[in-house]
Amino acid sequence: MNEQETVTADRIKKAIAAVKAERPAYEALLDFYEVLFLAQEQTRGQLQLEPIQISNELLSVKQKEKFPLINRGDFKIAIKESVALLKKLCQLAAEANEVLAEAAPKIVHGLDHGALEASALFSELLGEGQEYFDKAAQELGIDSKVLAFFAYSGIRPSLSLCAEQLATYLDKETPWDKGYCPICGSAPALSILRGEGERSFLCSFCGHEWQTIRMYCPFCDNRDHNKLHYFFSEEEKDYRVDVCDECKKYIKTVDTRKMKRPVYPSIEQVSTLHLDMIAQQKGLESGIPIWLQM
Ligand SMILES: [Zn+2]
Ligand SMILES: [Zn+2]
Repeated sequence: MNEQETVTADRIKKAIAAVKAERPAYEALLDFYEVLFLAQEQTRGQLQLEPIQISNELLSVKQKEKFPLINRGDFKIAIKESVALLKKLCQLAAEANEVLAEAAPKIVHGLDHGALEASALFSELLGEGQEYFDKAAQELGIDSKVLAFFAYSGIRPSLSLCAEQLATYLDKETPWDKGYCPICGSAPALSILRGEGERSFLCSFCGHEWQTIRMYCPFCDNRDHNKLHYFFSEEEKDYRVDVCDECKKYIKTVDTRKMKRPVYPSIEQVSTLHLDMIAQQKGLESGIPIWLQM
């Protein structure tokens, strides 16, 4: 493990321990996510991908038109490492998580015996091939969300490395006032308030965090303050759920200014499922994509 990995691994462990202490109901789930995030971090440290190049000419068009830097299909995926990670996660899940335990060995079996082809699986995920996932999952006898979750978890280190390399092309002076990721164009999974109340979004695909403006809906770009509101619970003032009356979607927000513990955004996303339940009971729809719906 290099120094950077040690720092990140330590941060993950501390953040998870702090959330478990606050919300014991999440203990079992977080045990699994802890090994998942640590395994992803380890793979990430070993990856070598040639950075994606963007010419000055193309870059100026993208900046002017507010286009993301790449399309999701342009991500470079380290296939061998992603398959190894996917299999490792299946093995970890089989020991740690009841819901995933049944599907995990079927996925590994599919990969080992040709029923599931890794490069097709990954490229369909990049292209949001819903039909492919439905069909492949049916053939394996598992839920398509579970298949998407494992495929995504396997390629996540490649996505995050590409995103980090591409971030050097972004103009950091100007907030990106769009509800899609400036790197890959995907929707946000989480909203984060930091420092003086600046808002940023966490990309649901590449994990890039972009600073944005305060009041608007990332899903339909509604900027009418009268049609945007939020709710929160008295016991958890550091979280809230932002709701758009226009498209009836919601996004969870973590207010790091009110937190005295280390924050690792991906952990906040998975340890706030009770907020999703409340929002969905209110008839609201999550903007979260299939691969994060586990
Ligand atoms: Zn992204
Ligand atoms: Zn909306």
